[in-house]
Amino acid sequence: MKHVRGFMFDLDGTLVLGDRMGAGAYDVLPGAIETLEALDDRGAPFLILTNGSASPPAHIAAKLRQVGLPIADAQMHTPSTVAADWLKTSGAERVLVLGTPGVGEPLRALGIQTFVPGDVCDKIDAVYVGWHPDCVMRDIEAAANAIWAGAAFTVASNVPFFATKAGKSIGYSRAIAAAVESLTNTPPIVLGKPSQAAMSFVADKLQLPLSDIAVVGDDARLENLMAREAGAFSIGVSTGVTSRAEWDAMPQAQTAHLVLDRLDELLQHL
Ligand SMILES: [Mg+2]
Repeated sequence: MKHVRGFMFDLDGTLVLGDRMGAGAYDVLPGAIETLEALDDRGAPFLILTNGSASPPAHIAAKLRQVGLPIADAQMHTPSTVAADWLKTSGAERVLVLGTPGVGEPLRALGIQTFVPGDVCDKIDAVYVGWHPDCVMRDIEAAANAIWAGAAFTVASNVPFFATKAGKSIGYSRAIAAAVESLTNTPPIVLGKPSQAAMSFVADKLQLPLSDIAVVGDDARLENLMAREAGAFSIGVSTGVTSRAEWDAMPQAQTAHLVLDRLDELLQHL
């Protein structure tokens, strides 16, 4: 860890556990508050990147502060903040969003016009699929029509499930994107973890080279894979979807560089 100067933390299964629909208060995982406070004391930069796109980042940050986690609005990111950056950079001005109102909020904050299925728009530049528990066939049809007309196809997250208080919860955006892909034969561009778009976004926000960043998360297919591919330092935790035994059973070249059973064990390694 001698290169590490900044940290990216996952949220669900790493710092907290929420409920299935993200409505109630978070349960803070043991040692999470102490760890972030210690990093603050040391002046080590950190941010949170969740793959949950349902709520605007400021809304999530406020809920995290309520349970004692020292997280400023600017330190909280979702796939939608990555997507907003990515879409803006790629010149997309009009985006069809499949998701709850919170999904499109970071796009609108960067001046991107967002549309929902049923809106009239001559030319959609991109489709963006996020947390959308109420998706209906009409939404899938609107996305397919936009893609057939030349829109780019992007998705917040491609995970089949994530950790909640009640156990595994399904990833809606993966299921919706799979339906749209099956119609259009167009694979979605994933903008949340484990994409390198997300990793570059993190490096940019922390203003550090990839090799100086530790990525901390509970999901070997997400944070760990993203960090490994980028040449960042991967820290796995056993408090979410990946058990200690599962981390240990992975090949050395693929598992996390360091595995923690409690987040505050991190402090012993600084
Ligand atoms: Mg997680």
